[in-house]
Amino acid sequence: MKKNLIILGGGESGVGTAILAQKQGFEVFLSDKGIIKENYKKILISHQLNWEEKQHSEDKILKAGLVVKSPGIPESIPLIQQLKARGIPVISEIEFAGKYTHAKTICITGSNGKTTTTLLLYSLLKNAGMNVGLAGNVGKSFAWQVAENQYDVYVIELSSFQLDGMYDFRTDMAILLNITPDHLDRYNYNMQDYTDSKFRIIQNQTERDYFIYCSDDEIIQLELSKRKIKQTCIPFSLEEPALPGAGIREDKLIINFNQKQFSMSILDLSLQGKHNIYNSMAAGIAGMVFHIRDEQLRESLAAFQGVEHRLERFLTVHGIEFINDSKATNVNSTWYALESMQKPVVWIAGGIDKGNDYSMLRKLVKEKVKAIVCMGKDNSKLHAAFDRVSKNIVDASSMEEAVKAAYYLARNGDTVLLSPACASFDLFENYEDRGKQFKEQVRNL
Ligand code: ADP
Repeated sequence: MKKNLIILGGGESGVGTAILAQKQGFEVFLSDKGIIKENYKKILISHQLNWEEKQHSEDKILKAGLVVKSPGIPESIPLIQQLKARGIPVISEIEFAGKYTHAKTICITGSNGKTTTTLLLYSLLKNAGMNVGLAGNVGKSFAWQVAENQYDVYVIELSSFQLDGMYDFRTDMAILLNITPDHLDRYNYNMQDYTDSKFRIIQNQTERDYFIYCSDDEIIQLELSKRKIKQTCIPFSLEEPALPGAGIREDKLIINFNQKQFSMSILDLSLQGKHNIYNSMAAGIAGMVFHIRDEQLRESLAAFQGVEHRLERFLTVHGIEFINDSKATNVNSTWYALESMQKPVVWIAGGIDKGNDYSMLRKLVKEKVKAIVCMGKDNSKLHAAFDRVSKNIVDASSMEEAVKAAYYLARNGDTVLLSPACASFDLFENYEDRGKQFKEQVRNL
């Protein structure tokens, strides 16, 4: 008898799972409580898959043999609780697809920098001529590619929500960039629960696998001190490089691995800022483990174009540079953005506060920020944190107002930085919409 697979969520990962599962001989039913996008509907129909939208038919779903859940659906909703109470396994797309490929996987997680590092490493391996796929939160879903492509290696971006649905999956190479408070609402406001979720990235690894992590990160270090680690560990840090490991010596990025040493000037890295040195190190280590030649590695780390909405240097208008860092949705990423600024900053911040503690930004704001534009429906927390630190602090209730106010406050040679430290849903659809509107308004100046 065919095994019965229910897929919850009809987005990229759900539709990809449906295609792979059908190919593997499952009886598939896909259910989405919202509306499924037209392009995905067409694909479901052309593959003659069974699906529903705007509802979850419990009678069908509770009879599942296996459930693949979209990472966007929280564990806590009654339907998932009912499935679990019945002992029906609920897993993520990556866990499911991992069973049907022998390709090597490199999995990347962290609170910040996942997309940047994933794309950087993907471009590095591709430039070196490898047959590599890009998956996870970016691009086409892993399951879809496993169904239709034949890659030797995948670079996969994993959020903690995806990791939560992973049990038996083993990655050949795990990269853990950092752990700072984020999404705590999904983790009982408990930092240990969130840390445990991130560390699932190394579960099931053996002596033959690699674990690449930031050794400057205190939470990672503390967690490692509690665990027995079998795999080859390669730390990266802004201090002296370990053996094996990556670090900095006299403005040079150095990577030691397998009796070899790679080095390049940090000034030649295309992605600037301390946070991006970490990202470049993580990608560089992975490249070395995959035997990429030094010259090739240097070239790729120097040429990578960056990712939209991440410290994106957009335009200079009358000598004022406008930088779009709309993807900075938490305090930590904004810290790195401000840290990397070289000129006086007019800072556009605000949005939906996820329980932010702004105190870590105060020193940088004092040093680098000449004016703040608070852009959100409720700016009271920003005012409470910065009214005494900055003399120039104004409110804006739309992107148009914010960009105009920033332009008015800035002078030739200044930078206007959109790095909100908050989620975007009060005034925008999502961070991409916020970044696009920013660029649109800057173009209109
Ligand atoms: P993620 O996919 O984890 O959300 P992104 O690469 O999209 O990460 O970057 C999100 C935000 O974090 C951007 O504002 C970016 O400039 C900043 N950032 C990138 N890398 C790091 C890092 N290693 N540490 C802290 N902040 C980072």
